[in-house]
Order: sequence, then C-alpha cells, then structure tokens
Amino acid sequence: MRCQVKHLLLDEIFYSECSCCKRRINYQKYLCTQCLWSLRNLFVKNYCYNCGFPTGINSNYCRYCLEKKNFQYAYFNFFYKGAVKIIIRQIKFNNSIKAIYLLKYISRKMLKIDLIRKYDIITTIPTHWMRKFKRFAHPADIIAKELSKRKAIPFKKVLKRLRLTKYQWTLERSERLKNVKGSFSLGFKVNGLNILLIDDIYTSGATLNEACLVLKRAGANAVDCYILAKSVL
Ligand SMILES: [Zn+2]
Ligand SMILES: [Zn+2]
Repeated sequence: MRCQVKHLLLDEIFYSECSCCKRRINYQKYLCTQCLWSLRNLFVKNYCYNCGFPTGINSNYCRYCLEKKNFQYAYFNFFYKGAVKIIIRQIKFNNSIKAIYLLKYISRKMLKIDLIRKYDIITTIPTHWMRKFKRFAHPADIIAKELSKRKAIPFKKVLKRLRLTKYQWTLERSERLKNVKGSFSLGFKVNGLNILLIDDIYTSGATLNEACLVLKRAGANAVDCYILAKSVL
C-alpha cells in the first residue's frame, strides 16, 4: 500500500508522457500500452524468398534481387516508422536511457530469430569513436548482443571506421556511395567464416554494401545482414 502511494506521488511529480502519442503515462514508462502494441504492426511480414528484402503482399521475390548487392541474405525486422523510429532516434540523438531499456526489451521479445544458416560470428556496422564518445548506446550493439546470447554465436568487433563519414540520410544517393567508399578496415580475420552483420536502419544500403564488400574481399564465406528497421521512402 505504502509502495502504491509512493508510486502515485512520484507519478504526480514526475509524470511522464508517451514518447509517441503524448498520452500521460506512469513515470517509469516510455511508451503507453497502445503504442507498445502498435510495434507489432510495424513488423516486416512479407519478404523475398531469395534475399529477404521486404516485398508486396502477393509476391515471393523482390525487384532488388537483380541489383548488385554484396550480401547474400538480409533479415528485416521492422519498418522504420512510428514508435520504432522514435525509439531509435531517441537513443541515437538524445541518449534516452528509457529508450535504451525499451529497445533491450523489444530485442528480447520481438526479434526474428529464425536464421537461414549457421553463423560463426555476429558483428555490427561500427560507429566512429567520435560519435560513440557522445552516445551511451548504439542500437545495433543492443540487437547484436541479444542475438549473440540467444543463438550462441560469438559477437566480435570486426570492422573499423577509418574516418568520420557524414550521416547518410543527409546525402543524395550518388553522394552516399562516395561518402562510404573506403571507409572501413578489418581488425579480425574473417577468411572462410559465415558472418551476420547487424545494423539499425537500412536506407539506401550503401553503408551495408560497402561493409559487406570489405568482408567478402577478405575471404568471408557468406555475409548476411540483420537490420532492425527498413526505412520507408
Ligand atoms: Zn502512446
Ligand atoms: Zn530479393
């Protein structure tokens, strides 16, 4: 009872609002129940049998299969909109501790974990140390650690950023390719390995393709990607 009163009082003083719809909620929460449930509507449900790319409702293959891609298969978990977009942005640009905890919760409950092959290592698209310095947590690392634990695949830091690149979403498509070209190096031997490479958002795929190219050139056997959220253009 006393505990309940304390919570009510805290609620009154530090009440919080849902980061998505602004409804008033418990001070410990980040999203209201409705918005938390709405995450399920953002799942990628239809995808290409060949490469994993999201497709329309009635097609089994995508039109991107013909494009040059350096990864073989990609898992897409959510579409980058609504509550998913808010959570990722809050982690990356506002260092929101509540959003970090919520993403950890989502990782435990809502990640696709049926993988098409066995992987030797899990790794992430790295952030440049300058950006890392300013951030408490990186969404891709949260996902990678959870998958690594659940699937018993070792998590290794493989790629390194050679330079601080501009944010991809600030650039045109042709500039994006130029921006990331030659921006990664390797800090780990990947010869003959099956690698699962994790990133938080997929926009043009330029960063991911460049990272996969570096891994393939170094002799990786298979490079697949795992994307938390696919942007919708
Ligand atoms: Zn809400
Ligand atoms: Zn495809």
